[in-house]
Amino acid sequence: MHIPLVDLKANYVSIKTEIDEAIQTVIDNSSFIMGERLRAFEEEFAKASDMNHCIGCANGTVAVELALRTLGIGKGDEVICPANTFIGTTESVTSAGAKVIFVDCSEETYNIDITAIEDAITPKTKAIIPVHMYGRMTDMDAIEKLAKAHRLHIIEDAAHAHLSEFKGKKPGVVSGMATYSFFPAKNLGAFGDAGGVVCTLDSHAKKLEMLRNHGRIAKYDHEFEGFNYRMDTLQAAILEVKLRHLHKWTEQRRAIAARYDEALSGIVITPPAHPDYYHVYYMYVIRTPKRDSLKDFLKEKGIETGIHYPIPLHLLQAYAYLGHKKGDFPVSEQLAEEILSIPIYPELSEEQQDYIINAIKEFFKH
Ligand SMILES: *Cc1c(COP(=O)(O)O)cnc(C)c1O
Repeated sequence: MHIPLVDLKANYVSIKTEIDEAIQTVIDNSSFIMGERLRAFEEEFAKASDMNHCIGCANGTVAVELALRTLGIGKGDEVICPANTFIGTTESVTSAGAKVIFVDCSEETYNIDITAIEDAITPKTKAIIPVHMYGRMTDMDAIEKLAKAHRLHIIEDAAHAHLSEFKGKKPGVVSGMATYSFFPAKNLGAFGDAGGVVCTLDSHAKKLEMLRNHGRIAKYDHEFEGFNYRMDTLQAAILEVKLRHLHKWTEQRRAIAARYDEALSGIVITPPAHPDYYHVYYMYVIRTPKRDSLKDFLKEKGIETGIHYPIPLHLLQAYAYLGHKKGDFPVSEQLAEEILSIPIYPELSEEQQDYIINAIKEFFKH
């Protein structure tokens, strides 16, 4: 048996007719940039996310940059980010001209350690970017309380967290601004790069729209210099089709997670679950000190796994200029050595799930 970590082909095959038709429609209309299907997807995604607006853009990294720029965050400002996330979160802070400030993550949630944020706040701090890691939201009540007390903006990086909820609220509902990636492997994935920003305020939506499209107010009339950060109409048409299935796919992910939880708890540390959180399991991340040998063992059995992420950001060469050293963020560092993402996707059959469960059990018998 061979089980990949993600199986994009199986997903396509399950909805091939709908996807092919959507692609053909865009080609027939040949409205490839800012076409009708883009507006249609934005409206549907905003609705699905319980937000007033969605502005499609080129990818999830520039989505964060657009959000920062819309809030006026840039040169001379500091932005607080978790040390365990993908570099896309923090690159955008630098692209916007601001400085990245890392904070450790919590051993209970794998999200930013909320109790450590206050110590990282300085007079220059302008925003916090909580990242809803693996599909489980950050405690937004606590983040909002901190942000209010220190007059900070919040941008939620929801690249892992489409349809996720904390106390019934989806990303962006509490803060007014969340960003998404529609990278192919994400829970809602395009056939290439794509991203989006959801927001509450009309004024933010207007600014986001202009920023992503050359600061344009009308054809060849530009209020300011913006960017070409648009989402292709083709990607929007594909995403619109996939969005129709996302609730069902998310429930399927959750059902697999429940089977894994039951079979694997007590053998490895299973993902933190709590009734306040509607976890959407972009990744099912288990934790064990024997991670490397388990990974090798599963590979021999034909099971692909991943590590999200193997190097905490503060230890990357890319951030050497911040002067961090090993030991600065011990929880992120330890997680990086012990976490393992095992396959979880709607098309994963019960037989494949059992094969994975049995392989993990077999490893720990020895
Ligand atoms: C995938 C991802 C991004 C960036 O997404 P791209 O679409 O690849 O640019 C940002 N943040 C996190 C946490 C991600 O996982």
